[in-house]
Amino acid sequence: MTHAIAQLAAVLATALFIFSLHWMNDPKTARRGVIAGVIGMLVAVGATWVQPEIVHHGWIVLAIVAGFIVGVPLSRVPLTAVPQRTALSHAFGGLAAGLVGTAEYFLGLGAGGVELTAFRMSAIVAEIILGFLTFTGSLMATGKLQEVPWIPQRPVTYPGQNVVNIGVLAIAVALGVLVVMHPAAAWSARAFLAIAGFALLFGVLLIIPIGGADMPTVISILNSYAGLSAVAMGFVLNNKLLVTAGALDGSSGLILSIIMCRAMNRSFTNVLFGAFGTVKAARAAGEQKAWKQETVEGAAQLLEQARLVAIIPGYGMAVAQAQHKVRELYDQLTKRGVSVKFAIHPVAGRMPGHMNVLLAEADIPYTALVEMDEINPEMLQCDVALVVGANDVVNPAARYAKDSPIYGMPIIDADKARTVLAIKRSKNPGFAGIDNELYVQDNTWMLFGDAKAVLGDLVKQLAGGSGLH
Ligand code: NAP
Repeated sequence: MTHAIAQLAAVLATALFIFSLHWMNDPKTARRGVIAGVIGMLVAVGATWVQPEIVHHGWIVLAIVAGFIVGVPLSRVPLTAVPQRTALSHAFGGLAAGLVGTAEYFLGLGAGGVELTAFRMSAIVAEIILGFLTFTGSLMATGKLQEVPWIPQRPVTYPGQNVVNIGVLAIAVALGVLVVMHPAAAWSARAFLAIAGFALLFGVLLIIPIGGADMPTVISILNSYAGLSAVAMGFVLNNKLLVTAGALDGSSGLILSIIMCRAMNRSFTNVLFGAFGTVKAARAAGEQKAWKQETVEGAAQLLEQARLVAIIPGYGMAVAQAQHKVRELYDQLTKRGVSVKFAIHPVAGRMPGHMNVLLAEADIPYTALVEMDEINPEMLQCDVALVVGANDVVNPAARYAKDSPIYGMPIIDADKARTVLAIKRSKNPGFAGIDNELYVQDNTWMLFGDAKAVLGDLVKQLAGGSGLH
């Protein structure tokens, strides 16, 4: 009876996970997707707990309490820190898989343990290699994104690096084959621990040559590895739910990485081995041209007189938490009959959908959000392109500068609008660390300052209020 309930619960949880992913495709249904995922997880935990094999219930309670202690603070991190938070979750998932695989192997070696067949051993070896490399790789990614002082942000490269990396992985796999063939030989336990050691080392080596700007893509690839290690764990523990949930996790991570690579016009190999993100020295040509500044009054006038305004949000809007002010500006302008569209670049911000989430939080109608491919043909008719803390995603160098790290990345054609108003705090570059000629082109006017403050002033000006700084 319990077995039948567990089977049914597994099917229900899997269905909920699939619907959860499907609903997360669209901002309108994303909340429902999150709820479905949470319910699916509760069903999965409940179904596992009622298994007759579970006799020490205290351990489960302890694990749940530990999960809450770690999970509650993690849920409170600001949206801008979500990539590193996600990487940390993958690190925990990878560590869990690695430890479960290790425990299963040593239990199997002991008297009365489950027989270590070739299939079981293959699954255990796959689980620990993927689990442990995901653990250290994700920790490194978290450290780089969080800008931990002792983890270098820039890509660390040296001659023969790829040979060393592949060599370390190859040794781990070769030892794995030996252990699968002779799981109980006198040397096998030591070889097993060496595999774990090499996998941990490989995780670190895999991440050090990758620059900060590529970290979100790498996190998504690590998500995929964590999912695959969960699949292997499902085979080891004979838990079908883990197999299906892991497969969903693994494939969605892979699909997301592919989408992100396409949006940046990069290949997987380029992300993993290209050492992108090297901060280049500012180019002299960009430095010589003058930056022109506009006043809030002047900018408000330009916006008021426009027929079509394209607001292009970027990472700076997220940092400033300026989405509510953006909404107020949207209200002011639409009230005056100005048509306002939001130009959404697929990799604006620091995670896919970053801008959509923030704008949805400010209740901006989904219909006003226009994808890059759709808005670009309209940019020539656009009277004002208002860039709010975006930089790389509007950098025209991506079109022609072959030596630029963003070369080939499709951009929002802000430069084609009649007038460009750009809000940022300084003349500093964006995430890729390069100059942006958009800011110094003839029809661009800067509004220097924190995005929230500048937008607030614009709104006040449009509303006819006072108190500007
Ligand atoms: P960006 O190139 O990082 O530029 C953000 C700009 O915002 C900076 O120039 C900064 O200038 C400004 N800023 C920061 N805080 C601000 C504040 N409080 N008020 C006003 N401005 C502020 O951002 P982006 O144009 O959104 O481009 C995203 C980058 O991340 C791309 O290189 C993309 O490839 C990369 N990336 C994104 C994803 C993803 O999934 N979204 C994934 C992988 C890589 P100041 O410091 O002068 O203010």
